Parts: sequence; structure tokens; C-alpha cells
Amino acid sequence: MIKTISYETIHEGHSLCVMGAVHGNEKCGTIAINKIIQELENGDIKLKKGSLHLMPIANPKAYQENVRFIERNLNRHLYKKVIKKDYEDYLDPIICDFIDKGDFLLDLHSYASQTDTKEEAFIFISGNDKKEIDYAQNIGVKNFIYGWQQAFNNAENNEGNEKDNRESQGTTEYARLQNITAVTLECGQHLSLTAPHKAYEAIVKSLIYFDMLDESSSVYAQFSYENLIQNNIHSQNENNVLCIHMQNVFYKENEGDKLSKPWKHFEAVAKNQILAYRYDGLEIKAKENGYILLPKLNADNGGEWFYFGIQDSFESIQ
Ligand SMILES: [Zn+2]
Repeated sequence: MIKTISYETIHEGHSLCVMGAVHGNEKCGTIAINKIIQELENGDIKLKKGSLHLMPIANPKAYQENVRFIERNLNRHLYKKVIKKDYEDYLDPIICDFIDKGDFLLDLHSYASQTDTKEEAFIFISGNDKKEIDYAQNIGVKNFIYGWQQAFNNAENNEGNEKDNRESQGTTEYARLQNITAVTLECGQHLSLTAPHKAYEAIVKSLIYFDMLDESSSVYAQFSYENLIQNNIHSQNENNVLCIHMQNVFYKENEGDKLSKPWKHFEAVAKNQILAYRYDGLEIKAKENGYILLPKLNADNGGEWFYFGIQDSFESIQ
């Protein structure tokens, strides 16, 4: 059973969809969405136009078991399937129909916990849509990663077979195919205490950005003022913004594959630096100066291991 709640106003405006727990062990979005529902119910927050569609838990069974997914990563191969095999295959049509309701999608996630990683929220964008970049820059985050889908499609799978183009198709990629503007916000580490706040802030700032939040709402003044200041800082100091173009996805292929060190997310690496070793000693090197993204110190065999990206700027992708 999946719960969705829609709030429709009588005034025309944007239609925003917000999802949490597409991965069952990522609870920050659920906490934030439930807080928004509570505040809409008790009148602390009022919508003035448009409609807001909320799905606090996209993968209920995985959420209950506190795991990423049950049988299939819901954020890969996301489309309605004729033949359903895995548990998540049965969720696809519900998720797709939900996303179809919006003209914008905010998908709230968190990432694997590494105790020594500096907490940083970041946003995945496609990088080729001006509307999307503008939205992403207005929800309180200063780190951006784009090129996810291309990096995936360039990767060879373990058997060297031609890759299924739809592997990289998750919520936002599905949405973009329907001409819906979509971003994935990674709010921090799974167990971060600040991640639910980041998720909540992003929802409120989205409502302000789309002019959907009534000025009488208690949070309106706080966040619209914050946005003004942040935008001001952004325009004064573009260096504050880290914009990474994802280049490669690396898969762990063998139990003996080892990272060359316990990398941190967003850790800078130099050209030719050794990133990891295959079980047979083969070195995986950085092909240019760049950044390690989302390293999984305990990746499963055959699973996504880490990503590599280079710094870019918004000017070059608009
Ligand atoms: Zn996730």
C-alpha cells in the first residue's frame, strides 16, 4: 500500500510532486514530507495556488525493512513493465502515475554513510535544461552533479554486453521523458541529523520558488529571506558553487577489487592518481583532475562502486 496526498488550490499554478524513500533506507524525505503534511493540516502552512502532490514512502516494503530495495533498485529501470517479476516492478506504475501529475518533481534521497565524510547535500541534474538548473539553484544547495545518465550509458556492464539504456532511468529520468522538470536532492548521509532539515528546507523553498506558498505561512519569512541572502552570496562568489560533470561509473567486479584508499565523497584527485585496484592488480587511474563521487566502501560484487567526475560550470552547460 502506498500513501499519496494531493493538495489542490482553486488558483492556477504549478504542480509540484515530492517523493521520499524511493530507497527504503533513506528516511529524510519521509520525515520532511510528513512534517509538511502536518503543517498543511494544522494551518501553519497554506498554499495560495497550484497543486502539491506528496508521496512520503515510495518503496514501503524496503522502508519497513530499512533496506535500499527488496528485489530491484526502484531508481533504475523505472518504467511500467508488461511482465512483472520483482516486487519493485509492481510499484513502477504507481510511481510513474504519481510523477505524471506534476510539472516539477523533487525526489528526496540520502547517501551511504561514511563516518569521516563531511556532510554536504547536493543535487543531481540532467544539466541540459535551463529551467531545471534555475530551479536547482533555488532550493538551498550549492553542490551539483550532472551527466549521470550519459556516464551510465557509457559504462560497460560486467559481461561486456551492450548496456540496457534504461538501467539509468530512475524517477527524474522518467519524469524528463514526460517533459517534467525534475531534480534529485541528496540531503546528506543516511543517518545525518541535518538531512531531514535539508529536505524540509528544499520543499519550502520549492513552494516559494513556484510562488505556491501563502505569505501567511509561518516559514515563509524565514526561507524567502534566506534565499535572498544565498542568491546574493552566489552571485558575488561563484566559487561557492561546485558543479561536477560525471564521467564514469565504476562497478565492483570481484571480491578482490580494492579502493586505493577510503575515499570521501567529493574528494579531489589528480590526473593519473590511482583510484582503485582490480583483483588482478590492474590500476584504475583518474584520466584527468577531478573528483571521487559517492564511493561505497562496502560495495556488493557487481554493484556500483564509485563514480568519477570533473569540475565544470553552469555557463558551459546552458
Ligand atoms: Zn537514494
